[in-house]
This record gives sequence, C-alpha cells and structure tokens, in this order.
Amino acid sequence: MVGGGQLARMTHEAGIPLGINFKILSDTPQDSAAKVVREVVVGDYRDLDTLRAFAQGCDVITFDHEHVPTEHLRALEADGIPVRPGPAALVHAQDKGVMRARLSALGIPCPRHRIVTDPADVARFAHEEGGGFPVVLKTVRGGYDGKGVWVIDSAEDPAAAEPFRAGVPVLAEEKVDYTRELAANVVRSPHGQAVAYPVVESIQVRGVCDTVIAPAPGLPDELGAAAQQLALRIAAELDVTGHLAVELFETTDGRVLVNELAMRPHNSGHWTQDGAVTSQFANHLRAVLDLPLGDPRPRAPWTVMVNVLGGDYPDMYPAYLHCMARDPGLKIHMYGKDVKPGRKVGHVTTFGDDLAEVRERARHAADYLRGTIDE
Ligand code: ADP
Repeated sequence: MVGGGQLARMTHEAGIPLGINFKILSDTPQDSAAKVVREVVVGDYRDLDTLRAFAQGCDVITFDHEHVPTEHLRALEADGIPVRPGPAALVHAQDKGVMRARLSALGIPCPRHRIVTDPADVARFAHEEGGGFPVVLKTVRGGYDGKGVWVIDSAEDPAAAEPFRAGVPVLAEEKVDYTRELAANVVRSPHGQAVAYPVVESIQVRGVCDTVIAPAPGLPDELGAAAQQLALRIAAELDVTGHLAVELFETTDGRVLVNELAMRPHNSGHWTQDGAVTSQFANHLRAVLDLPLGDPRPRAPWTVMVNVLGGDYPDMYPAYLHCMARDPGLKIHMYGKDVKPGRKVGHVTTFGDDLAEVRERARHAADYLRGTIDE
C-alpha cells in the first residue's frame, strides 16, 4: 500500500488474520502505519524510481491516498505491476474536473458545474449556469478535508481570486442547498463482484468529518437503494477495484447528488470495523487480491462512529480508564499519531438498538478523549 497514514494502519490490521504480507511506502518512519507495519519503505511517492523500487516483489499495489501522480501509475502498469484501483479509474478520485465530466456524461446527478478561468468567468458561470451566487470553487487536484474549497458570495469577494493562485484548474459549482451529507460505500473486485454497505449519514464540522451514522436515519428505503445502485454503477462504469466511497448531498427535494469519489478505505466506512460483518478494510484487501468479497451487512440496528481530534492533552491514555469503565461496549481505535489540536488521531465506535443512546455514548467518549469534557 502506498501511504503510511491511518488507513494503511487499519488495512494492515485487517490483513493480519488473512496472513497477507503487507508492505507500505511511507513518507516518514513516524507515520501512523509505519509504527506498526514490519515492512516499511520510507520514500517519496511522487518519485517514479522510488515507486518502482517499492513495487519490486509486490503482487499488487494499492493506496491509502489519491496523490500518486497518474502518469507514475501508468508507468507501473506498463511495467506489468497490477495497480488496483488502476490509473484509469483512480484519476476520477484525483481530479474533480475529470470526475464531474465523466459522471455528467454517464447521466449521474451532480451539482451544476464548469471549469472557470478567472473571477470574471466565475461571475459568468454564476449568472448563466450556476443559479447565481454563492458559488463553490474547488481546485481540481490536491484538496482534502475542505482545503481547496472556497464559497464565494460575489465576483468582488476577495476569496474569488484565491483558488486561481495555485496554478491548478478551478472548478465552479452551484452551492447545493442540501439537508445532509450521505455516503454510499461499495467494494468491487476485478472479477466484477461487488457489495454495497448501507448508506450512511456523515456530519462534518468545519470541513472535517465528525460523526457517521449507519444506516442514515430516516432515509427512505427507495432513496437508500437508489444511492447504493448509483455507487455500484459508478464502480462498474469506472472499472474501480477496491473500496469506493461516493459522497452525496441529499437535497431538500428528496434527490441525491454526487459530491466526490474516494477509491480507498474512507472515513465514512470506519464504522464497518465493529458494525459490519466484513469491514471496509478487509473487503478492500479482498478486492485488490481478487478474492471473493465478504458480507457487508450491519451487525446491529445502529452503529455510530465519531472521530477523535487532538485536543490539549498530548497523552490520551489516562482518559481510557474513565471511557472503558463507563461503557464496556465502546470500541476505541487510536492511530498512534502525535496529538496536535484538530488533527484526526483516532475514532470511537458504538452500536446498539437505540440510536439516541448509541450516539450519546460515542459522542461522550470522543469528547472525553479529546479533553473537552471531564465527566
Ligand atoms: P474535499 O476534497 O476537501 O473533501 P469536497 O468537495 O468534499 O472537498 O468539499 C468539502 C465540503 O464542502 C463538503 O463536505 C461540503 O460540505 C462542501 N461543498 C462542496 N461542494 C459543495 C457544493 N457544490 N455545494 C455545497 N456545499 C459544497
């Protein structure tokens, strides 16, 4: 797996019972996965020679992030190394412009959008196609956790010039009036077998995923099934191998629009570690190795995942005593990262029959671990 973050750490964990030899290409020896994986190559994923040397002896290459240059992936494929997902699929998770163009060509509902060249062009888009201001601007590559996304209120808005400074194409989108964000997570193997997890609700705070509720509360069955079908169709049309997260907006008029795609295990699927028969990490590994996929069904009526962000306390272990004693059903997943304010350092999961109670337990544990509450 290229990347040494928490996704690689948890994928490694899922591979242990299957006896899979797991090797990572990590930026530093201190990365989350580098601290626990035995075979670690430290190097720069932007360097083709480093990637080639890393790929030696690998049966298959997969990723914990989308940032490997597409042309390097094509070079690895040309060398005969199975790259899963392959560059032709992955480019849709790397480049929001390519993704929007392809999904629109497939007739998949997306926000109205167009590549724009400067603030005056943003104003033209707003007035002619986007339904007026506000408009959302995004750099087509390199954004994550809300970085690389701007909401512009007028052409004179000083922020309107910002996205153009990076020298990367800029995508303008209508600002969707959504009621909530959903994610449809599916896994597909090279054989074409695919499984769909229940559609979840994902709640963002300041551009960062905070809470995921599985299944999305109150989602009409037909809309949930339609979102699963949409994600399965995208996986098949784009020839995705592995886990595909389709981030969706649920609109006030009862439709879903695609926001973006991720072709790797995803934060909206962390609940599956404890809440589904087969986790997203195990199924991602099964898919990239072209093994039959595991049952994606939930184990409990409700599962809630809350991310633990770094707070004021560098050491979270003292908080374990209270959290574990208060709630024996609580599942804690820490990533072994240094605690910095606002950084994702772990997550907690709870499951059960009563959503309000399950949610309160996860919320309490995450806040207590972060140090924002003390009882
Ligand atoms: P990132 O690559 O940083 O995850 P996203 O495209 O997911 O960027 O956008 C980050 C957040 O910005 C979304 O979760 C959503 O809250 C908001 N957003 C993005 N696009 C739109 C849009 N077209 N309309 C309204 N809100 C949007």
